[in-house]
Amino acid sequence: MAILDCAIIGGGPAGLTAGLYTTRGGLENVTMFEKGLPGGQIMNSSEIENYPGVTGEITGMELMTPWPEQCQKFGLKHEMVNITRVSKSGDIFTIHKEDGTTAEAHSVIIGTGSSPRRAGFKGEDEFFGRGVSTCATCDGFFYKGKEVAVIGGGDTALEEALYLAKLCTKVYLVHRRDTFRAAPNTIKRVKNTQNIELVLNSSPDEVYGDNMGVTGLRVKNKAGETREIVVPGVFTFVGNDINNETLIQEDGSFLCDINELGQVKVTLKMETSTPGLFATGDMRQDAPKQVVSAAGDGAVAALSAISYVDELLN
Ligand code: FAD
Ligand code: NAP
Repeated sequence: MAILDCAIIGGGPAGLTAGLYTTRGGLENVTMFEKGLPGGQIMNSSEIENYPGVTGEITGMELMTPWPEQCQKFGLKHEMVNITRVSKSGDIFTIHKEDGTTAEAHSVIIGTGSSPRRAGFKGEDEFFGRGVSTCATCDGFFYKGKEVAVIGGGDTALEEALYLAKLCTKVYLVHRRDTFRAAPNTIKRVKNTQNIELVLNSSPDEVYGDNMGVTGLRVKNKAGETREIVVPGVFTFVGNDINNETLIQEDGSFLCDINELGQVKVTLKMETSTPGLFATGDMRQDAPKQVVSAAGDGAVAALSAISYVDELLN
């Protein structure tokens, strides 16, 4: 098979924008490798109100649905496959797929994003998918007319608590401190929502239940007092881990430099320490973790990849 001009790993806002700009910018042979549906983690968001030019209520899925079609118009190919590793020998990158096959590329743009983190309390793993969830858009409907608990104090926890408050009779928002990380406007909306009860300075101790699913959550506050919250659903939004596994080589080293948080170090051109490899979006160092910035990174990386391939081949 012909060597790709560019392989894009990940089809979130960063990867899709890289796909648009590489193909429209003249690279002939570009494939985006995405293990699931293109669109990325924002597809799980019930509402996005800070993507420029998009006004009114819109879900993440509505925002992202046209993006792949726009890329395909300019020739981006898409393969639905999990990439296990990216390696480089000489000037050629090898893309290792889960099915054991490989593809080769002159340049690689990686945008594998991040994944929801587990909070680490007792019962979380046991009841995951049976009352414990990290996706309100996916699972919120199961709790329509019921009470639920939300854990976390960032933008995701507060926004998803607001979403759940529209479906559920009550939302207990459990946060381990008494101040939130979320945007001021979001905090204000949460505080003004009648059916959200703030359970502050409290951490989840245990989620428990029976073979039907979750029946309650025990939280402990800073004074060591426990409280039972009787709910059938517990949503955890406690941050994300960087998806950098594809950069790990057979000897355990990384294909390029990463920092102590696992984020890929990049220049302002999204260049990594490995020539021809560009990193974008949530996985790169100091990412603002926004759809608009991930898309911006994808465009910058694409322009850098075009110059790199041009110089390499001409
Ligand atoms: P991602 O969106 O994480 O996409 C990475 C893609 O790579 C995924 O599709 C994944 O399947 C794929 N992938 C990963 N590993 C592999 C592999 N090995 N092989 C193949 N494919 C792989 N941002 C905002 O600007 N506004 C908001 O309102 C907002 N709300 C949010 C609400 C929620 C619930 C969440 C979770 C996030 C929200 N964000 C919001 C943040 C925003 O979604 C991210 O910043 C953005 O999606 C990052 O884009 P990305 O392309 O870097 O990565
Ligand atoms: P986050 O900002 O890292 O917040 C995680 C929250 O979970 C924090 O409040 C943290 O508490 C708490 N937490 C962490 N570990 C915990 C544990 N083990 N037990 C209990 N609580 C725990 O994560 P996020 O909210 O998912 O946001 C990730 C990024 O995406 C952020 O940069 C955010 O701004 C961005 N984002 C933006 C939007 C938007 O622009 N509208 C929407 C969603 C996400 P502490 O506060 O005490 O650390």
